[in-house]
Amino acid sequence: AMITVAIAEVFFFVEFNPLSAFTGGENGLPGVPSPSISLGFMTLKFNTDWSMYVFLAFWYFVGLVIALRIVRSPVGAVLSAIRDNPLRAAAVGHNIQGYKLTAFVIAAVYAGFAGGLLGLMQGFMPPDAFMFDTSGQLIMQTAIGGAGTLFGPLVGATVWLYLSDFFQTTLHLGATWKLVLGIVFVLLVVFLRRGIVGGLVQLWQFATGRGRTHREAAASDPHAVAASAVAAAVEPVIEFVPSPRRPKPANGGELILEATGLTKRYGGIVANNNIDFSVKRGELRGIIGPNGAGKSTFFKMLTCEVHPTEGRITFEGRDITGFGVTQVCQFGLTKSYQVNQLFTRLTVRENVTIAALAEKRGPFRLDLFRSVGGVDGLTQRVEDTLKLVHLTERAELPVSELAYGEKRRLEIGLALATAPSLLLLDEPLAGMSPRERLETVQLLKSIARGRTMIVIDHDMDAIFELAEKITVLREGSVLVEGTPEEIKANAAVQEAYLGGVHAP
Ligand code: ATP
Repeated sequence: AMITVAIAEVFFFVEFNPLSAFTGGENGLPGVPSPSISLGFMTLKFNTDWSMYVFLAFWYFVGLVIALRIVRSPVGAVLSAIRDNPLRAAAVGHNIQGYKLTAFVIAAVYAGFAGGLLGLMQGFMPPDAFMFDTSGQLIMQTAIGGAGTLFGPLVGATVWLYLSDFFQTTLHLGATWKLVLGIVFVLLVVFLRRGIVGGLVQLWQFATGRGRTHREAAASDPHAVAASAVAAAVEPVIEFVPSPRRPKPANGGELILEATGLTKRYGGIVANNNIDFSVKRGELRGIIGPNGAGKSTFFKMLTCEVHPTEGRITFEGRDITGFGVTQVCQFGLTKSYQVNQLFTRLTVRENVTIAALAEKRGPFRLDLFRSVGGVDGLTQRVEDTLKLVHLTERAELPVSELAYGEKRRLEIGLALATAPSLLLLDEPLAGMSPRERLETVQLLKSIARGRTMIVIDHDMDAIFELAEKITVLREGSVLVEGTPEEIKANAAVQEAYLGGVHAP
């Protein structure tokens, strides 16, 4: 942001000095002709106030329709996800730098076009269009009207221009008008956090009962959770599993992931030390270890969130060491987070849609004029995922209104919607009530039927029930690996957990 401001200042300087012969310098460019369009048989001239108004209104309308299309396109959906949680947007496989650049370029096209219209309207191109003050005013107008809304900037600009006129010409405040407008701005932003249009939308939702319905639905939440828990316990076999990119083979012999000599040092701290680790396709692996054993760091290295200090990682025969988290998610390797990383301002359905879009459209695509619903197979994927994580009933709720256990399930749902061939789950049961744990273990079992999974958790009972093979980490190294029975009986594991006090 600071570099953008600095570059704008450079342009201001260039306009005023070296290029003043072309730009008019501080005098601006006078004599901009009024627009006229030749239709062959007649010429449309826009040289009266009203015709100019119609001309500008027409272009405003065109701009608005294009913006509306973009907002409703997959690109628009991804942009709102990036605004909400860029880390997760990248982790589910979207190239966020590409999308941010797109937003920047689109905004620049709009600003450039609007600047041209300003010149036409005034018959004069003023030099202050390039001033920092002008950029600042645009941001304030947007904040007043409502950022994240299409009409907010229009309303904000109207209020701003009206007030600045009113203070100067009617109240004759002289130079203090900016101070008064500044105070008005602060008051508006403090008391109308979502701007005028955002506030009106909230009021409308409240008046029509949509907001209330959400809250009432959330209030009935314990029943919904209990009902779905019972459903899960009674009916653990779930058929709607978004299938991984390559199905689980019958014999499960081939290695899907192999890590050799993985080491991660943070200064003097050795979080992981020379770990050799491999997982077969179709396997359900558990990883356990005391607090600080290096489990989360190990997962971060496998998903390329952090790069190993030493060692190599191979996924489906491809060396992914040094790759980015977006790329490896596109290859089919992703994780659910220990601390929820959701798009909290979006609904449950929109959350899952964002994750599914990355797999359906690839990391970056400029389908600005397609609607989200038009993406092949997307609706089915979203429905299947919601059903799998028992959130179909809650699909239209904003994430902020979900109960904790539901958020944990959505966290898993986001990873699942990318149809990973290897799914890593970092403490999926963390912070859950016993009932929710029961439900989630059933859920994990049903997910595992379709894919290869590695699960970290502190809940030994759950891990022993779920995993076919368990790796125990201690102080950053692999202590032992084996079946649940072997691990239970292993003296070194008991030592690591109980500090020498052996279980009877
Ligand atoms: P827990 O079960 O409590 O989640 P864990 O087994 O996942 O623990 P890690 O979070 O991987 O353990 O941490 C392993 C070690 O590395 C700890 O000593 C931790 O303090 C250290 N560590 C992890 N991340 C960083 C970091 N970014 N900078 C410095 N040290 C770190």
